[in-house]
Amino acid sequence: MLSSTPLRWPGQARASVAMAFDLDGPTGAAMLDGSLWGKPEYFTFGGYGPYRALPRLLDMLEAHRTPATFFVPAWVVETWPRQCQAIVERGHEVAYHGYQHESFFTLTLAQQRAVMERSAAIFKRHLGLVASGFRTPSGDWHADTPALLLDCGVTYSSSMRGDDRPYFIDAGDASRRLVEIPGRWELDDYASLAYTRAPDYPAGLDRIASYDQTLDNWCREFDGTYREGLCMTTLLHPKISGKPGRIGVLEEFLVHMHSHADVWFATCNDIARFWAQEYADD
Ligand SMILES: [Zn+2]
Repeated sequence: MLSSTPLRWPGQARASVAMAFDLDGPTGAAMLDGSLWGKPEYFTFGGYGPYRALPRLLDMLEAHRTPATFFVPAWVVETWPRQCQAIVERGHEVAYHGYQHESFFTLTLAQQRAVMERSAAIFKRHLGLVASGFRTPSGDWHADTPALLLDCGVTYSSSMRGDDRPYFIDAGDASRRLVEIPGRWELDDYASLAYTRAPDYPAGLDRIASYDQTLDNWCREFDGTYREGLCMTTLLHPKISGKPGRIGVLEEFLVHMHSHADVWFATCNDIARFWAQEYADD
């Protein structure tokens, strides 16, 4: 597809937005030192996400009639089943994000398959659903991961960085391909708002930016998406953005985007399904 080709979106929409949240709970931070219980501070820092921030976030999304996709490690579903069921009850999508936020590029193919199968069983048992999306917890994967994901019933991924439009990832041959809905660090709240003292992660950075500047950055990313008629997704974390002050930043971001009438707000799955049909010949 030419870079200048205008994209087609449903209902004459000019651009699309898939709000997406990684409900890592303590798993993401615990990954830093290899143990979920290696640092009890991490557990409370992360557990705040599903336990406290998520209900606040669900209320805010409902107030602004905005659908969202939650990528959730299956261990978080097992640990906070009621909170995760509420995501589904409120009309949002839940998708795969590892069992305990494993680095997929460090796993063998058999280990990756085991994580996917275990996650599917937990989603079925606690949420009563079969997920179709996947976001790699580690930002990377093996060359054989896309084919494995398709084998496990996954139809789209939101893991890579290769475009600002959805695109196809071939898994062996052109008849087997994933839709990729790429994200970018500019729309990851860890880049601007995350802060942990030890280890300092991401290392060497001032980790709490001005909230005004953060909002301005996010709005400018949306403005560019809108101007060029693209697809934007986010990599936000309830434990980072779902706090009493920051939820207001997120709300202002939504208000700014909703002030444009011709934007299609959809789950990642809806965007992937649309893309697979509309651009099947590309
Ligand atoms: Zn994550």
